[in-house]
Amino acid sequence: MSRQIFDAAVIGAGAAGMMAAAQAAQRGLRVVLIDHASKLAEKIRISGGGRCNFTNIGTTPANFISQNPDFCRSALKAYTPQDFIALIERHGVRWHEKHRGQLFCDDSSESVIRVLKTECDQAGVTWRMPCAVQRIALESGDYVLTTDSGAVRAHQLVLATGGMAIPQLGATDFSLRIARQFGLRIVEPRPALVPLVFDAQTWQPFALLAGLALEVRIEAAPFGRASRRTPAPAFLEDVLFTHRGLSGPAVLQISSYWQPGTPIRIDLSPHQPMEAFLLENKSGNRQQLDSVLSRAWPRRLAEQWLNHLGGQELASRRIADVPDRALRDLAQRIHHWSVQPSATVGYKKAEVMRGGVDTHELDQKTMQARRAPGLYVIGEAVDVTGWLGGYNFQWAWASGYVCGRALVGQ
Ligand SMILES: Cc1cc2nc3c(=O)[nH]c(=O)nc-3n(C[C@H](O)[C@H](O)[C@H](O)COP(=O)(O)OP(=O)(O)OC[C@H]3O[C@@H](n4cnc5c(N)ncnc54)[C@H](O)[C@@H]3O)c2cc1C
Repeated sequence: MSRQIFDAAVIGAGAAGMMAAAQAAQRGLRVVLIDHASKLAEKIRISGGGRCNFTNIGTTPANFISQNPDFCRSALKAYTPQDFIALIERHGVRWHEKHRGQLFCDDSSESVIRVLKTECDQAGVTWRMPCAVQRIALESGDYVLTTDSGAVRAHQLVLATGGMAIPQLGATDFSLRIARQFGLRIVEPRPALVPLVFDAQTWQPFALLAGLALEVRIEAAPFGRASRRTPAPAFLEDVLFTHRGLSGPAVLQISSYWQPGTPIRIDLSPHQPMEAFLLENKSGNRQQLDSVLSRAWPRRLAEQWLNHLGGQELASRRIADVPDRALRDLAQRIHHWSVQPSATVGYKKAEVMRGGVDTHELDQKTMQARRAPGLYVIGEAVDVTGWLGGYNFQWAWASGYVCGRALVGQ
């Protein structure tokens, strides 16, 4: 089998890898793009329910989690949501804003894949796909890859194999393993944007609510400790009760901040102050407490919640007979529901991996490893994790772009 020499080998033909390869090849570099999958960019394909939430027009560094919160700043400034919009519009892709700055394709996520593939093809990127990389060695300053379709020699190497979420689609820890091989530190990876589960006993009273969704305000411990280094944001989004725990956008968002062994806190009535509502509806009211509560809350939730707190007896008491103190206590519990998840459902159902290659190892303007010249890491493999809402793709485009512009030819 022949050995070809390239200016850069990019491993991982996903969002970040295709962007980097196209940018470098458009500047005349000889680039090879290698991926072990037989189908191109599966994560883009399934993203956003098949319509790809490809960016968020409100993107700022505050929408990302990293041990080094400022790291993403340069790349996000160098390649903005408007830049990506301009790119897809040049290819005739139509889009719309759905919710809070989240942009989706009008048709299908296939159109985003087509844009990136066309950009690579027109720039002359060499494809090796499907192709597995068995080994990487450094020889006279070049990266030499042993692959199942022959050896590849490149002056520079880009690790763009993403995170470990959805292993059933071929996600691996490849970038982390190779980064370690070249001496780079790793921030412990964990599933993120992922449903949370509870032990069976804790969840038993709530399992009956499976399928119920409502808007809540949610936060993770340590509550309210917001500093520049350890921001503790709260999200106002929908939560979804499941048979084993909680899901929905609110829970996916907070899962990225949740630390095992700590509680999450949920305000189950973020718009309606419950104490005032219950006390205002008390005087002379012959209705049962669960009926009154159902006027401000889904009935199923009202009944189950009261049963959980005080059994059938509390639910069926006339509100006029319930002491103010008990109503205040009920309101307090509704606004400050503190529960401790036992685990996440894991990488099988996670949207992303948090953690990854420690950003202190990388140059923020280029994504090049400080102590391994010619080695770059981009996309989800880096310890930069976006919130739900298009931020993870924006990070993939931006980190891929700055890397692709920084790669050099010979
Ligand atoms: C169900 C789901 C929905 C999502 N929806 C959205 C959304 O709407 N908006 C958003 O911003 N983000 C979304 N994300 C997250 C987003 O898909 C990722 O953050 C993004 O794709 C990361 O880009 P990447 O280039 O780093 O990795 P990827 O796009 O995952 O690409 C990595 C590539 O590397 C290849 N690869 C992996 N291991 C190897 C190996 N050992 N050898 C060779 N190749 C390898 C893979 O085949 C893949 O092609 C979603 C994720 C999931 C799972």
